[in-house]
Amino acid sequence: MLNFEYQNPTKILFGKGQIEKIGQEIPSDARILIVYGGGSVIANGTMDMVRKALAGRNISEFGGIEPNPDYDTLMRAVELVKKARINYLLAVGGGSVIDGTKFISAASCWELGDPWEILRHQGKGIRTVIPFGCVLTLPATGSEMNHHAVISRKTRQITLPSASGSSEGSGVVSIHSRVDNEKLAFSSEKVFPQFAVLDPVVTFTLPKVQIANGITDAFCHVMEQYLTYPVHANLQDRFAESILLTLLDDGVKSYRQPENYDSRANLMWCATMALNGLIGAGVPQDWSTHAIGHELTALFGLAHAQTLAIVLPATMHVRRHEKKEKLLQYADRVWGIRGENPDEVIQQAISKTVAFFESIGLHSKLSAYNISADQLSEVSAKLLKHGMTGIGEHSSVTLEVCEEILNTAL
Ligand code: NAP
Ligand code: FE
Repeated sequence: MLNFEYQNPTKILFGKGQIEKIGQEIPSDARILIVYGGGSVIANGTMDMVRKALAGRNISEFGGIEPNPDYDTLMRAVELVKKARINYLLAVGGGSVIDGTKFISAASCWELGDPWEILRHQGKGIRTVIPFGCVLTLPATGSEMNHHAVISRKTRQITLPSASGSSEGSGVVSIHSRVDNEKLAFSSEKVFPQFAVLDPVVTFTLPKVQIANGITDAFCHVMEQYLTYPVHANLQDRFAESILLTLLDDGVKSYRQPENYDSRANLMWCATMALNGLIGAGVPQDWSTHAIGHELTALFGLAHAQTLAIVLPATMHVRRHEKKEKLLQYADRVWGIRGENPDEVIQQAISKTVAFFESIGLHSKLSAYNISADQLSEVSAKLLKHGMTGIGEHSSVTLEVCEEILNTAL
């Protein structure tokens, strides 16, 4: 097992009716900004419960955070935070709203120039933040109990001095160029939520496709920490396998029975546990599926989980020799597949994984989204630009390996 330090400061309030308690978690004199998305939390009554729990308190609201939260929208919230001297944030929504709130929290206190630098440097340099809590409405990302966030930027203006450095008007000629379609992640110990409310009831209104996306995201989070080598962290492996097995069981029940409280509760806790640091402590981690997936979302607009259902099976296939021992363990303990021929066992485990994603409506090939071979060079260019040239648990996923994965996924 690798050395590790593990601390997770987020307090969890789990279960029916727990939203009532949020007032106790936020300082009584706080100037609170409630951050939410496109309105699902208003339509399903979550916002009413939040407002009721905070009745009489100093609250403002900022809505409109989009799925794959966009930098420009978040910067409008930062302006509001500064103007209204907000000193506590409350995210009410899914991973996008919580990730967006993490960015607002850090960017509102950022003093090192352009806040986009937070993303460019993956969160390094964050010193102070505005504290925040969250009310989760979509089990998927684990953002409610972790210190990661993923932010997108659709357009960006860059002003460059002209090559000659010179002449008209103010004396400087500028060239404006637009950079499009970025999706970058950052992490910082400072952006753990202080508390997270997980009430399975508020997830009953999720469309099936979002449940499927959530199951897939959580499944892939586990796989990227579990399907790595060398194999030596036995407890973490068994934690990981128990989450995978529970997702196969309660995840699928949640998908089929939208108002089954117990299944939804199990799914919700699985998604949180999949990425709150516990199963990843002391193990090598392989985030290449997410890294490639982020570029597919940024370039082609696929939902986060749609990208993962495509990239994960292709990664398992391309890296089957390197990851052989763990793939055989996965086949045995998660799917009950054993046999004389390891290659066949691994192939069956990959097929089972694909069949699982397909059973909840996700596709496992790029062609299902009309993405063809001639578009893959754009993905390579983005991976290169973002320095994704030696990723995976042992930095062995070079650009060439990424290309092989993408070609396998066609
Ligand atoms: P999401 O983008 O937050 O939400 C997807 C959709 O679900 C939105 O349209 C939202 O509507 C709707 N929704 C949310 N709760 C609902 C409810 N209870 N009933 C009905 N509709 C509801 O989805 P997500 O999968 O949670 O987050 C995806 C983002 O998280 C991506 O940007 C991904 O890259 C990122 N991510 C982060 C981490 C991390 O560790 N931080 C890990 C993996 C992925 P409204 O907008 O109207 O609310
Ligand atoms: Fe994810």
